[in-house]
Amino acid sequence: MTPAFDAVIDELKRLPGLGRRSAERIALHLLVEKRSQLKSLQESLSAAARTLNACPICGNLAEEGGPCPICLDPTRDASQICIVEQISDLTAVERSAAWRGRYHVLNGKLSPMKGIGPAELNLASLAKRLQDGSISEIVLALPNDIEGQATCHYIQEEIVGTQSISLSRIGFGLPSGGGVTYADSITLRSAIESRRNYS
Ligand SMILES: [Zn+2]
Repeated sequence: MTPAFDAVIDELKRLPGLGRRSAERIALHLLVEKRSQLKSLQESLSAAARTLNACPICGNLAEEGGPCPICLDPTRDASQICIVEQISDLTAVERSAAWRGRYHVLNGKLSPMKGIGPAELNLASLAKRLQDGSISEIVLALPNDIEGQATCHYIQEEIVGTQSISLSRIGFGLPSGGGVTYADSITLRSAIESRRNYS
């Protein structure tokens, strides 16, 4: 096409889940067919980039430096925490409507191979949340792979330790690979309902 158009395609192709054809469709849509949408997309992206932050309590998306809507919601059970690897897992669990507690987003999983240790994950704030004894249940909604297992084990041994907190792991009928994010709501709901004691 043209150098400027090609540069846009190259950027779009770097986004998760977009191949060349989808990138081209989006670029043509925004730059040729629906120019007005380009402006609103630019504005909403800049506004979000300015205001969004990680929730200081759980690591979910939040705004203006404050906690996220779930941590602020008084109807959510503050004594229950569902631990997920990433924010997209949290939104998948929310869509399933099977969880009325709160969350903790680790932003990854332990992986010595990739140099990801406990310090690289959002674990210190989890330990802090457990300090006042107000948490009675933790559900591990982490991937069923070696790294997910290592992360569960670490949380059990190093974070929960001897505290009297019910620790369970979600049942797995989940697809391997995509895990929580790509599970449909019905599968995810039954995985949460059939969570098993983690020991
Ligand atoms: Zn939060």
